[in-house]
Amino acid sequence: MVEELSKENRMEALRKRVAECTRCPLYKTRKRPVVGEGELNTFIMFVGEAPGYYEDLQGRPFVGAAGKVLDRLLEEIVVKRSSVYITNIVKSRPPNNRAPRREEIEACSPYLDEQLEIIRPKVIVPLGRFSLAYLMEKFGLKPAPISAIHGRPYDASAPHGPVLVFPLYHPAVALYKNGMEKELFEDGRRLRKVLSERGYI
Ligand code: URA
Repeated sequence: MVEELSKENRMEALRKRVAECTRCPLYKTRKRPVVGEGELNTFIMFVGEAPGYYEDLQGRPFVGAAGKVLDRLLEEIVVKRSSVYITNIVKSRPPNNRAPRREEIEACSPYLDEQLEIIRPKVIVPLGRFSLAYLMEKFGLKPAPISAIHGRPYDASAPHGPVLVFPLYHPAVALYKNGMEKELFEDGRRLRKVLSERGYI
């Protein structure tokens, strides 16, 4: 009899492969890969861009300044950080926090695909334009700039079943763009309303 691997075992195997990955040059300059963390039996997954300075040091997603904003946003949405899964589209820090390159996203996104297959979330929240562009295309949704489609629910179908994609601005925008924190948190409240209407919270 073939025993089915648990979600924990599959994610651990993935973690090891990411730690040994050389598909793009970022492995040479990163300190630690940041695979993701949180509850594997969750209904909701948040997908950021790439690790920054503190994430690279600790090997954990969203633990720096943008992470503090995400923590407050999660409070606004009324979901506990420990009850959701958080990851990035690129698992290694780009030098000097530059934006991830197309070829880095191409090299790393199969790991995100695997994480989606393991977790099978019902709700996916892209944080920022890079994960948004990737996920909209993956789910056959019409690509659009984040400024046009943030804070709204998009129903789509994933290989594991129906998913709701709810794009949010990247939490770091609250740190460097005037007025964006207000918009981000308004979107957070919209997400809370949708989750509550659909019976998730
Ligand atoms: N920004 C991201 O997109 N991800 C992190 O993990 C930290 C900052």
